[in-house]
Amino acid sequence: MVDILKPEEMFNSIDYTSPSDRWEDVPPDLTLGNFCYPTKKKNLEYLGLPAKDEWSPADDDWHLPDNWEEIIHEGFKERLEKYRSLKVFMDICVRCGACADKCHFFIGSGDPKNMPVLRAELLRSVYRKDFTTAGKILGSIAGARKITPLVIKEWFSYFYQCSECRRCSVYCPYGIDTAEITMMGRELLSLLGLNINWILEPVANCFRTGNHLGIQPHALKEMIEFFCDDIEEITGIKINPSFNRKGAEILFITPSGDFFADPGTYTMMGYLMLFEHIGLDYTLSTYASEGGNFGLFTSSEVMKRLNGKMFAEAKRLGVKWILGGECGHMWRVINQYMDTMNGPADFLEIPKSPITGTRFDNAASTKMVHIAEFTADLIKNNKLKLDPSRNDKFKVTFHDSCNPARGMGLLDEPRYVLKGVCNHFYEMPENTIREQTFCCGSGSGLNTEEIMDLRMRGGLPRANAVKHVHDKHGVNMLACICAIDRAALPPLMDYWVPEVGVTGIHELVGNALVMEGEIERTTDLRFEPLNEEEAQTDE
Ligand code: SF4
Ligand code: SF4
Repeated sequence: MVDILKPEEMFNSIDYTSPSDRWEDVPPDLTLGNFCYPTKKKNLEYLGLPAKDEWSPADDDWHLPDNWEEIIHEGFKERLEKYRSLKVFMDICVRCGACADKCHFFIGSGDPKNMPVLRAELLRSVYRKDFTTAGKILGSIAGARKITPLVIKEWFSYFYQCSECRRCSVYCPYGIDTAEITMMGRELLSLLGLNINWILEPVANCFRTGNHLGIQPHALKEMIEFFCDDIEEITGIKINPSFNRKGAEILFITPSGDFFADPGTYTMMGYLMLFEHIGLDYTLSTYASEGGNFGLFTSSEVMKRLNGKMFAEAKRLGVKWILGGECGHMWRVINQYMDTMNGPADFLEIPKSPITGTRFDNAASTKMVHIAEFTADLIKNNKLKLDPSRNDKFKVTFHDSCNPARGMGLLDEPRYVLKGVCNHFYEMPENTIREQTFCCGSGSGLNTEEIMDLRMRGGLPRANAVKHVHDKHGVNMLACICAIDRAALPPLMDYWVPEVGVTGIHELVGNALVMEGEIERTTDLRFEPLNEEEAQTDE
């Protein structure tokens, strides 16, 4: 990992002074620590994407293909014709500046090119030159500029400094979605083989084995069985989940982060306990073993290819509907794109909870229900026996993950669940939660160690709001419903607010659940004492 500044030094280094140079004249900083490592050629070849020999963004010459200008022009043209939103977003910005200070990367870095309006301008200026009469005739007077290898470098730098969180779009009077502009910018770069490895390696693994890490079916089964052993040790209850079982009522799909990385693994244990408790007829799949979809950060075509396995596996297994775990971008893909990309899934039924009878009409087209909705419905209908005091050592706040919050409007259900399983819940300030939530700083494939400085800067506004409730209420646990958050927030908290831990909400559900026939619990799902007195005695 590249060394980064200490928190106080980083905070004091942020400079919002307007630079004297014109933005077009400032080259991107592509020194080590300021860029994501490029994709290994084998991953691009595996996916059949334009491949490029090994290179480094720090190189002077990126050895672009001879016809790179034509590739970009034709790619841009094709996308303008295909995506009406892109065409509109290129034309309608009035440069009012309402979005300028809303991006967490601008707040944390002070770099003007991290203002959403200017990030979009990186693409828009080329659009004007290539596709508008005014730009062709008047050039820079009309805000147009010719594409050059330096502009390509600038795109690579700044489209990988946007986490596609969409916070800026909430404040734009025209609803311009800079995340979509970033997505298009990344698609164009991909046409030249310019991708980052932290995204493309999981994509290649996912395409090959069904999940980001390339976990084979037998290994995945053993991981889940390992969690079941832990649950038995804590509760005395033996859980026997099924895998690839044809005829199950429900297929459960969750991000693979819940299989292999703490604290996601505790969230996974919470799901397994919940399903056992209510006697759910479900199966896991060792093929559709990844809810996450890094295709979203690559191109629409790759996103579609990876998403296809969800419906394909539901069809093969003959389930009635799909239940999905706690994830962020997984739900952006499901909620906004899946139905039109790979649907309609007419072979599935409109989801209906077999426990409460509630019909989830909001999922009538995708046939896929979010676990937070499912559990909130169980709690509302008194179907769970809960002892929230088992979470009393936690003072909890909730981080609205960008995609469930802004991508699907899932705002109240996670809070309802949390208030059902915890006695101490505190909200962060109003302008940092719900639709206005701040990104973790590592979304959209930026959760990679070589850009730790950028991630800590981008995560500063989120961490600052957590610090506020930590100082005011003693909050010591940050709950979230996103696998990337469960990976990205722990180092962010360690850096800015080390007193605060991170959890998925179903870990807290698992702690609070009073299961029939369970032994007296002495520890939580992390094998840590249930209450503070016991923890202190142990120390
Ligand atoms: S989508 Fe998020 S990261 Fe990207 S420019 Fe807008 S606020 Fe910044
Ligand atoms: S808020 Fe919208 S219209 Fe105003 S500068 Fe930003 S993108 Fe352009």
